[in-house]
Amino acid sequence: MDEMMLQKCIDAGLRMTSQREAIAQALDQSYDHPDAELLYERTNKIDSTISLATIYRTLGVFERAGLVQKVDVGDGKSHYETARDQHEHLVDTENGQIHEFKSEELTALLSQIADKMGFELTSHKLEVYGKKHGDVSCRCIQIKVY
Ligand SMILES: [Zn+2]
Repeated sequence: MDEMMLQKCIDAGLRMTSQREAIAQALDQSYDHPDAELLYERTNKIDSTISLATIYRTLGVFERAGLVQKVDVGDGKSHYETARDQHEHLVDTENGQIHEFKSEELTALLSQIADKMGFELTSHKLEVYGKKHGDVSCRCIQIKVY
C-alpha cells in the first residue's frame, strides 16, 4: 500500500529523491484532503529535513504529472488528494467535512453541456457546498475530514 504513490511516480518517469519518496509515502497514508502544511507535518515524521517549500514544489510536480489533485474546500487553502476515480466533493459548510460522491447523472449532464458547446467532455472537477437539513443519510462514498 505504501508503494502506491511511489510506483505511480516511477511509472510517470519522475526522478525520485528520498525526500520525494517521503512525501509520496505521507500522501499514501493520508485518507483525507490535507493542505500543504498538514502534509508537511506528516512528512516530517518520516523525514525531518524536508522544508515546507519542498512540499509545495513537490506537490506541484506531482500535480503536473497528474498524480495528485487540488481540492478547493472554500477555506482559501489548496488541499490535495492522490488522483483516484472520478468523484465529486460536497463540503459541509457547518463542520468542514467533505463528502465524496459519484453521480452518473451529473457526468451525463456535463457531457451534454459540453456537447452543445462543440466539445467532448474529457474530465471535470466540482466542489459543492451545502448545509445539512433533516436526518437524511448522505449516502456518499465516504466522509473525509480535513
Ligand atoms: Zn476526494
